[in-house]
Amino acid sequence: MELKIYPSNWLHNANVYGFLRALEWASTEAENQAVKIKVDLRSILKDDGTVVIDDDLAEQLYETSTGFPRLANIWMGYSYYLGLLYKKDERKKIAENVEFEGDMKKLHKERKNMLFAKGRAYQNFINVAFSFEKYKDYITSIFGDPRKQVSFEDGEKECLLCGRRFTPDEGMEEFHEFSARLFGELSSFGSFPNAFWNFDTDRYVCNVCVQMALFRHIVFNKNGDFFINAPSFKAIWYLNEVARSYKEGVSKSKSAISSAVLGTAILTTSPKLLRILGSWARQNLEIVHYYKGTYLIDSLPPKIMDALFDSKISYLIQKISDDYVFSMVLNGDTEGLAKEGYERLRDEVVDGRRKDSSAVIELAIRLKEILKGVKVLVSSKSLKELGRRAGDMFKNTKYRLLELTRLGRRSEVYHLLLRTYMAHGREFPGELNKVFSTHDEEDFKLYMMAYISGMTESAGGEEE
Ligand SMILES: [Zn+2]
Repeated sequence: MELKIYPSNWLHNANVYGFLRALEWASTEAENQAVKIKVDLRSILKDDGTVVIDDDLAEQLYETSTGFPRLANIWMGYSYYLGLLYKKDERKKIAENVEFEGDMKKLHKERKNMLFAKGRAYQNFINVAFSFEKYKDYITSIFGDPRKQVSFEDGEKECLLCGRRFTPDEGMEEFHEFSARLFGELSSFGSFPNAFWNFDTDRYVCNVCVQMALFRHIVFNKNGDFFINAPSFKAIWYLNEVARSYKEGVSKSKSAISSAVLGTAILTTSPKLLRILGSWARQNLEIVHYYKGTYLIDSLPPKIMDALFDSKISYLIQKISDDYVFSMVLNGDTEGLAKEGYERLRDEVVDGRRKDSSAVIELAIRLKEILKGVKVLVSSKSLKELGRRAGDMFKNTKYRLLELTRLGRRSEVYHLLLRTYMAHGREFPGELNKVFSTHDEEDFKLYMMAYISGMTESAGGEEE
């Protein structure tokens, strides 16, 4: 019987993400035979958003040849590997990514208090004063095969997190409470803001969700840790993987703000993958930040989310690759982008330096189009092409054309264009007429700048 895990509220999803990371480690980097498993993570992350643990994987995770279920070994081993199970005097000594040696029993014995003692992630979930044998019994039960105990039809209790019905093992009832011992501050009423919350139900958590909940410390451990939530584990996996590597890259120089982390994750995750999220789901991406024991939830406005999912915007942001430009996109600041585009274009016109002005201008036009929900009159690409072909005619006047544009002097711009085309015996292009028919001042400037940016890119341009 396969075990299906459905995405639910962010807390549950973050727990499952911690579990997935542990599995990934156990199937790739881990060397100790007591934790090693064979699984391709990509195959258990389904397109419908679920995680499926099939019989083959379940057999590996729940076998007990070391005296503990293998999943309990993975849980302990990965935590140790990440350097999360230090004793106080070891805090400095333990470098990150320590590979553990020796047998699992020893590791459990030595390190269990690093998870269950006062001030640790699951304070008193298992009483640290208990004998090791008792600890072992509890762990064996908690990390045992949950498939026997859960079903969607019957069972004594209903799970608060996933809705499954289940019957706890005898004597294990207290481990299924949605308590501070397992969930910390999140367990108190009102402190867990989520629409999935059902206050009418008993506050119990099923066998599957208890196992997952014990992986929370993998995700939320120190200040600044974060989790990107989506209604699909497949999307969650890839979004968080790219966001984590992005954050590692910037953390040395400056702290990354959450909108930039979320935005970057969306941009760098393959569009093909994100397409599995419907448009409703895309709007429900959120980022949860962990800071001093509390969780802060943040997201991006729906229109900005739409913009980041737009292939043209995504392409332009990555082409320009400038944090300042990116932050303006995240803030929906088209005015700022227009100004930036103008400044870059002016530099190009004045001294011929290449500054990607046309990409910035195109970005401003496209962003405006998405934010305002209107179709542009004329494509920036065709304007740029017109400008490119007109470059030779405006060799000496393009700076003047740009300044008149900046000042919004439409009729002077129009006459300069018209005169120039006529003087060279060329037909005045119809697309340019469309530029003058726009009522929006900013649009007019952006279209004109797109046209002028083509001139700076014309072959041989300036120097002839
Ligand atoms: Zn559950």
